Parts: sequence; C-alpha cells; structure tokens
Amino acid sequence: NFKSGSEIRQTFLDFFATRGHKALPSASLVPEDPTVLLTIAGMLPFKPIFLGQRQSEFSRATTSQKCIRTNDIENVGRTARHHTFFEMLGNFSFGDYFKEQAIAWAWELSTQVFGLPPERIVISVFKEDDEAFAIWRDQIGIPPQRIQRMGEDDNFWVSGPTGPCGPCSELYYDFHPERGDDNIDLEDDSRFIEFYNLVFMQYNRDADGKLTPLKNKNIDTGMGLERMAQILQKVPNNYETDLIFPIIKTAADIAGIDYAKSDEKTKVSLKVIGDHVRSVVHMIADGITASNVGRGYVLRRLIRRVVRHGRLIGIQGEFTAQVAESAIALSESAYPNVRIREDAIKAELQREESQFLRTLERGEKLLAEILSSLPRTQGGTKGGQISGKDAFTLYDTYGFPLELTQEIAEEQGLSVDIAGFEKEMEAQRERARDAHETIDLTVQGSLDKLAEHIQVTEFLGYKQPQSTAKVE
Ligand code: ATP
Ligand code: MG
Ligand code: MG
Ligand code: MG
Repeated sequence: NFKSGSEIRQTFLDFFATRGHKALPSASLVPEDPTVLLTIAGMLPFKPIFLGQRQSEFSRATTSQKCIRTNDIENVGRTARHHTFFEMLGNFSFGDYFKEQAIAWAWELSTQVFGLPPERIVISVFKEDDEAFAIWRDQIGIPPQRIQRMGEDDNFWVSGPTGPCGPCSELYYDFHPERGDDNIDLEDDSRFIEFYNLVFMQYNRDADGKLTPLKNKNIDTGMGLERMAQILQKVPNNYETDLIFPIIKTAADIAGIDYAKSDEKTKVSLKVIGDHVRSVVHMIADGITASNVGRGYVLRRLIRRVVRHGRLIGIQGEFTAQVAESAIALSESAYPNVRIREDAIKAELQREESQFLRTLERGEKLLAEILSSLPRTQGGTKGGQISGKDAFTLYDTYGFPLELTQEIAEEQGLSVDIAGFEKEMEAQRERARDAHETIDLTVQGSLDKLAEHIQVTEFLGYKQPQSTAKVE
C-alpha cells in the first residue's frame, strides 16, 4: 500500500484536474502581496480573488503549494507532524461549487483514492455549522459521535477583521480506533492527526462583526502532503517519509551516526536539520538571501539552527551544502528551480555557515577567557560559577546553547548560574516580543492585521551588531 510523496502529490492534482480544476504550479515562497512575509498556505496566491480584488480566468483550481510556517518552528522535531517547510495540496472554488461538493470530493479522495478506511476518519466542524454536520452525517454516513463540533479558534477562518470568512471542517486520521468513540479528543496527537482542512468561505464580516452571506461562496482547502505520506507510508512521523528521510540519512552519515540507533535528543536534531534544510533550499531558490531583517532573517535563523544542530550531533566543519544537495535531489522533479538555482543555494549556505562558524569560534575564545578567570574546584571547595550574564552573552551573541556552556564548565569543575541565565533570557523575550509577531503567521490569524506588523518587520528590538548569532 506504499505511495511515494510524488505519487500522492500527483494523485491529488489529477483527482481535481479530472473534476474541472485548473492545475497550477506552486507560487513562490515570496508572496506577491508585499505585506506578507512568506507563503503560509495554498490560498495565499488566490487571496485577491477571494477578496474580490481580482477576477479569475477559471472557477476551479488545484495546486501543490510550497509553504513556510515559522510559527511552527518550536514544534519541528518535537511533534510528529509540524514543519517549517511543507507542501499544501489544495482544491479551490471561486464562486463555483460549495460545501456539499467539497465534502463529497474530500471523502471520495481520502477513502476511495487514497484508500483510508472510513472508520479511521474523524471529522471536525465549526460548532454552529449545522449544515456541515448534517452533510457529514446524512450524506456521507459518519456516525455523529465521530463528528466533533469545535470553536472559532480552530474552525472559523477569517481573512482579516472584516471581509470574507467562514467555518472550516477538518478530516483527522485515527491511529487508535480501538480506544473507542466515547472520549474523542482531537488535540490528542498520540491518537489523531489532522490531514485535510476545508474552508467554507460563505460570509462577509462588516466592521460591527455582523455576518452576511456572500453571493459568491468560495472553497479553500489544504491537505498536508507530508502528513498524508506519513499515514500512507505507515511511518511514525512525517520525517520518516520518503519526502524527508533521505536528507536526515545524509546528515546522519556525515555525523557518522545511525538515526535508528540514536537517542531522542539526537533524533530531534536530525529532524530539525531535515526540516530546515528543505526550508532554506526552497527559500534561496525563490530568491531570498540571508540578512537581519524580514524573510532574510528567517533564512539566517534557519541556517544557523541547522549548523548548531549539526554540531550537537558531532559534525565538525562545514556540511550544509552537502545536505542541501540531497534536498535538491529529492525535490527537483517537482520543483525544477531548486536544481537551476543549485549554485546560488550552495554558495549562500557556505557563506552563512562559515561566517557563523567563525562567530562560534570567537565565542569559544570568550568562554576560555571567562573560564580562566574563575577558581576551580579544589580539595573539597566548590569551583566558581559562570554568571548568568556571561552565559547569556555566549548564547545570544555567539550562538552557544546553554547546555554546551554547562558541559564545558563542568569539565573544568565549574558551574553556570542557570537562574541568572533564565532572567536574561526573559528580558530578551520581552524585548523581542513585538519582533517575533512579525513572523508569527497563521492562517487562522488575520492576514491583514499581520500586514500591519510586517511594516515594522525587523527585529530592531534586538539592537545588536550585524554579526550576532542569535539562534534558539
Ligand atoms: P495543526 O492544527 O496540526 O497545527 P493547522 O490547523 O494549523 O494544523 P491548517 O492551517 O488547517 O493547519 O493547514 C491545512 C493543512 O496543512 C493541515 O491540515 C495540515 O495537513 C497541513 N499543515 C499545516 N501546518 C503544517 C505544518 N507546520 N507542517 C506540515 N503540515 C502542515
Ligand atoms: Mg497549526
Ligand atoms: Mg488544526
Ligand atoms: Mg486546520
């Protein structure tokens, strides 16, 4: 029952193409809309059509859209299903078919084409969307206890404070149907994975929050390619699918380790590398270069995290271009521009990596100076302590993770003032809070509201010299 990532992508596009959808290539990760930082969903390129600002030549479209979601960066490697870079498969209706048809096709595709057992699918609907509930129950035949009514946060999509909006309905795969239908909790990701989201754009919201039905109702959907691959390939997480695992394997080979035999911490590092390398390859392919502002900063931060996690698993020296090669080889058939831009990708990576490695080296020198000024453990007296401030400078300016500083300190009979470090960290978080919002993009959030923030993109909050090496 194995289906490769490429087959899944093609199967989805073909399914909707034969149902009257225009198959379009993925848009760039750099959105046309200058106020949006990165493409976060398949609908973004169509946003002007949904908002009625542009006419579409066709009433139905289907795409596999490259997406970047930096708001999921902390989830990378920690959940089984989140990436910064992923592909969102989508079918769209611009004032054409609506709820009933979108649900019927989502069901047919999931169960008959991808072959998911119907009894393994659980549905969410917006709590007030009785219409969707009834379609799933009466026309599709889902037992009512397997249709969950959810709140606005997850199941109501808005494009901004005003404008088109509407309820969502999601399809979840159930890894453990034997646990029964009594206490279904869709947030429990040891049991469920959301794989397909249907947005029913049916209202216009005015300034007073009043909803009026739209004349032209739209459909916007998204299926995570990597998640469908996880389900169909029967692997424990998205990272072990054929879309990503070869990249992880390359990094593990360079480090001289074996993924399967690695401990959890090492696996997380390998997954971070596997994920971020895909992101940076596609970002550079789409013309982004590293810098300290906006999307350039996102790129820089991702590259530095790759380097740092490389060191955590024992890689010395430069390695990112080699890992990037395996990411390029994996996606060049679907996205030829990664091969066309190969030289630019590798050159940018090498430049950033060597610069960052030099910063790390300077940090090593600073650490040596700090260490030499402190008393050692001797004959029962406890040795000195690296101050929270120094540990934080090493972390924030020189890219030294706290654990690394601690490890080196311990080797020399010293300790680190952790509480002091945390205090500095908290102060930094406060300073950075506004700046972070600029990359905290979610579909549920208001894109327009976000756009206001992006005007001030820019991490000015850090007030640090160009060469800083902030990674987390
Ligand atoms: P989750 O609740 O799991 O974070 P979501 O509700 O934020 O997902 P949507 O905004 O509905 O996701 O996006 C549509 C689809 O895209 C999801 O159903 C999922 O299959 C996929 N997807 C979303 N975010 C990610 C991600 N960070 N990595 C991989 N796939 C994703
Ligand atoms: Mg999410
Ligand atoms: Mg969700
Ligand atoms: Mg969703």
